[in-house]
Amino acid sequence: MVQIQQASEGAMDHAIGRRRRIGILILAAAAALFIPITDGGFSRASGASAKARPEPHCDRTQFRIVVDVGHSLEAPGATSARGISEYEYNLRLATQIEQALLDIGFGQTTLLVTDGPALPGLFKRVNQARALDAQLFLSIHHDSVPESFLKLWDVDGVERHFSDAFKGHSIFVSNDSPEYQGSLRFGRMLGTHMKARGLQYTPHYTEAIMGKRRRQLVDAEAGVYRYDQLIVLRHARMPAVLLEAGSIINRDEELESGSSERRASITAAVTSAVEEFCAYTPKMVAKPAPQMRVPKPRGVRQASARSQSHR
Ligand SMILES: [Zn+2]
Repeated sequence: MVQIQQASEGAMDHAIGRRRRIGILILAAAAALFIPITDGGFSRASGASAKARPEPHCDRTQFRIVVDVGHSLEAPGATSARGISEYEYNLRLATQIEQALLDIGFGQTTLLVTDGPALPGLFKRVNQARALDAQLFLSIHHDSVPESFLKLWDVDGVERHFSDAFKGHSIFVSNDSPEYQGSLRFGRMLGTHMKARGLQYTPHYTEAIMGKRRRQLVDAEAGVYRYDQLIVLRHARMPAVLLEAGSIINRDEELESGSSERRASITAAVTSAVEEFCAYTPKMVAKPAPQMRVPKPRGVRQASARSQSHR
């Protein structure tokens, strides 16, 4: 700064021109370094960084994505403010996402519907995803709150629990996953596309009042949290993300979550994120998928994967 003020006009022009060129070089270098972090992918890669990377290409007919319906008929997860099971919400949204992916050419999309008790069901999901050699695993859920937040209200003469304290979706990835970076990349893409459609994530998982459910927000723009212990995420051998699509214990958001407009917005965000993610996923060499050994309790039926492959 001082040097430029003391220099002659010509020297100043030269110095400014040189600073601009250096500035552009620094910006280009910074762009090359930070594009995967700031945009959740490589979609805005340009200049020198684009030259170094292969052209984005996605073979939709070959990309294998598993859309997991969270919970099961027998262990249906949370109960909404109006007494509807989370599983019902998950199944409806996940089915719509599966259909939308099939409609745009992702022919190897599998809707994973699991039955039976909760814990064994989680390992069954992981094994199914491994057996399918999936390149992306997306688990669909709807959120509730810790019991201490619950209040009572009357719904058609029945006493129900609700909490209007929080609303919004949230996206989780596990740092214990061997595919943490890929998971985070897809999580960011998904969060960015949700945001672009006016959907807001909930920041309340960072608050101390959440106690043991408190999570680290790893991307405050896209709304991606770390939840390392989640079985379906940490044991997956492919990029894996869990989406809490909205809070169904919140009376307003339950109504929104049940609307076709809301489901259409979320579905559009997911399909856009999958398109973007697929474009930069290297072709995978098929290899045997090791299965997890889990003791099978009596009376547990096999998970059913409803594949609608267009092969
Ligand atoms: Zn759930």
